[in-house]
Amino acid sequence: MTSEAIRVICPNLKCRAVLSAPQAARGKTVRCRMCGMKVRIPHIRSIAPSTTDASDAATSDTSKK
Ligand SMILES: [Zn+2]
Repeated sequence: MTSEAIRVICPNLKCRAVLSAPQAARGKTVRCRMCGMKVRIPHIRSIAPSTTDASDAATSDTSKK
């Protein structure tokens, strides 16, 4: 499950609804389902480094002398 939803809070102080936007919505603007206010999805980095770092340790350079 690498496609975690982005949680954003509606900027409307009278709403403050927690919206969940997909990763594809980064940098885009979505509309709040509660009040209809446009909420911008910030460009946030994924906290969990789901990169292929594990393969780096696995493919250790076997340069034996
Ligand atoms: Zn709202």
